[in-house]
Amino acid sequence: MPEKIALYLHIPFCQRKCVYCDFPSFAGKEGWIPDYLLALNTELQMALRPQGTVDGRQIDTIFFGGGTPSLLSGEEVELLLRKVRKMAVVLPDAEVSLEANPGTVTRKKLEKWRAAGVNRLSLGAQCGEDRLLKVLGRIHSVRQAEAAFRLAREAGFTHLNLDLIFGLPEQTLVNWEATLKWAADLGPEHLTCYGLQVEEGTPLATLVAEGSLILPAEEETRAMYETAMDHLSDRGYQQYEIASFARPGFECRHNLYYWTYRDYLGVGAGACSTIASERWTNINLPEVYIRRLREGESPVVHRERLDCRQGMVEMIMLGLRLSKGPNAQEFYERWRVSLDSVLREQAAPLLEAGFLKFNNGTYILTRSGKILSNLVLQRLLEPLL
Ligand code: SF4
Repeated sequence: MPEKIALYLHIPFCQRKCVYCDFPSFAGKEGWIPDYLLALNTELQMALRPQGTVDGRQIDTIFFGGGTPSLLSGEEVELLLRKVRKMAVVLPDAEVSLEANPGTVTRKKLEKWRAAGVNRLSLGAQCGEDRLLKVLGRIHSVRQAEAAFRLAREAGFTHLNLDLIFGLPEQTLVNWEATLKWAADLGPEHLTCYGLQVEEGTPLATLVAEGSLILPAEEETRAMYETAMDHLSDRGYQQYEIASFARPGFECRHNLYYWTYRDYLGVGAGACSTIASERWTNINLPEVYIRRLREGESPVVHRERLDCRQGMVEMIMLGLRLSKGPNAQEFYERWRVSLDSVLREQAAPLLEAGFLKFNNGTYILTRSGKILSNLVLQRLLEPLL
């Protein structure tokens, strides 16, 4: 059986930059989109051609991420998917996801994307309050998010995700509970709840540093996370990953490739790939990416081979994000050493303190372990670094 692979297509354009965003995405460069799509096609050809990086692999999932992939028209998405299908075997039941900003969605686009084979839509709703959406610099309102959700349903999307962020400036626990209720009432199959991160160099970092925006206290942010776990479980969602909640059978297959340390190809400016323990990253700037591909040069700016120890650490770190933990059998098959023997010593105090559980040969974060996951992972993995 040929090995399966996940394909990520990065669309690095945004209408406006959100204040918290440090992703490789650029506002005011939408004029580059047609040239960018040509370059993306060239990079895809290089990777998928016979003897290319992923020759012979079957594509199991495709993910249009960004940036704002929903800036692409129905025709542009359709053409890209048609080309991918021409160059490689895309499995008939492949999961094809597209990230959409509610401020850029139209009925026509949704219908075209669905007809082109996109079968999972992830809407960046972020919050159920207009005043907070404004603070974040989002280009859409709550009503637009609701309208995008309904239009997506009407266009035939049966797998919808809503992205939400908690720990926003001036957000209270009561506000966050209202957002959770609002989102769950819409009835998505999947919800993602991230805690706001203040990334260095973003406008948010400046606003927080100068005291113009006040973030909730750490305990309140933790309480928000716990509220998400409780509220969404009461509403029938299973938490299968630290930040991801799904109705049974609606877990994101594409993201599971990352969390189970399986191979993925990323194409586009700033995209990263990991295949057969080799990892590479493309140049960030779309115009340089376009120029390089036009001139037949590689877009890769960094390449490394992960050694056995790095690979083990990643597999544990990513696997622990999952509610069922890293797969002990796969770990052994890959590294010829048991997960337990690698972690036993440093896991002991964390097991005793109730942050970890040991179950069926693997380690699992408990509820308190999830709440303090960064700290727990640091304690667990430090001796291996
Ligand atoms: S829409 Fe997403 S990628 Fe674009 S600036 Fe906002 S957070 Fe960043």
